[in-house]
Amino acid sequence: MDLIRDLFNPTDVQNILSVPTSMSGGFDTPYWMGESHGFYTVKSGYRIAAGCRDRGGVRVWAGVWDFDILPKVPCNPLCVFCGVEPETMVHLFANCPFAKACWREVDLGWRLGDVASIEEWVEEMWDELPRTMIEMVVVVCWALWEARNNRVWNMHAVDSKSLVMHANIYVNNWRVARQQNIVSR
Ligand SMILES: [Zn+2]
Repeated sequence: MDLIRDLFNPTDVQNILSVPTSMSGGFDTPYWMGESHGFYTVKSGYRIAAGCRDRGGVRVWAGVWDFDILPKVPCNPLCVFCGVEPETMVHLFANCPFAKACWREVDLGWRLGDVASIEEWVEEMWDELPRTMIEMVVVVCWALWEARNNRVWNMHAVDSKSLVMHANIYVNNWRVARQQNIVSR
């Protein structure tokens, strides 16, 4: 009881203490209030989030965002890999020297010059590469994004060789799973 009073405000303490407890005992289990079956669904989550927004939830979250204790995305507009160019999509995935080093590891047979836009880059790959290679491109892009986030959030750096090696393992495992019909096509 003291613990509850210590942790929550008076209104919440009253609400918590008014919850009837089971007379027969039993284990506690998590229950999602948004669905009658008690399991979380994206639909109900969205519905509740939209309801919060209508009741001024945005203001509350804007306030939370202002707290100094929460980690935030650093407002560094430069690419975390090279630290030279602005972090745009086309730079991060195609033009950055780190991205190029990764593509060289993949050994794709197309030119590694600078591309003007991400659309042009994707279109060119789509036209020229076989489907198996496009699968690899998608996974390497995803790995680049993950590597970027790991640098930003965990100060963890990965080299191009390991990034592509992990992407290769992922693609191979996925292909095996697909062949075994675990993953539907
Ligand atoms: Zn860069």
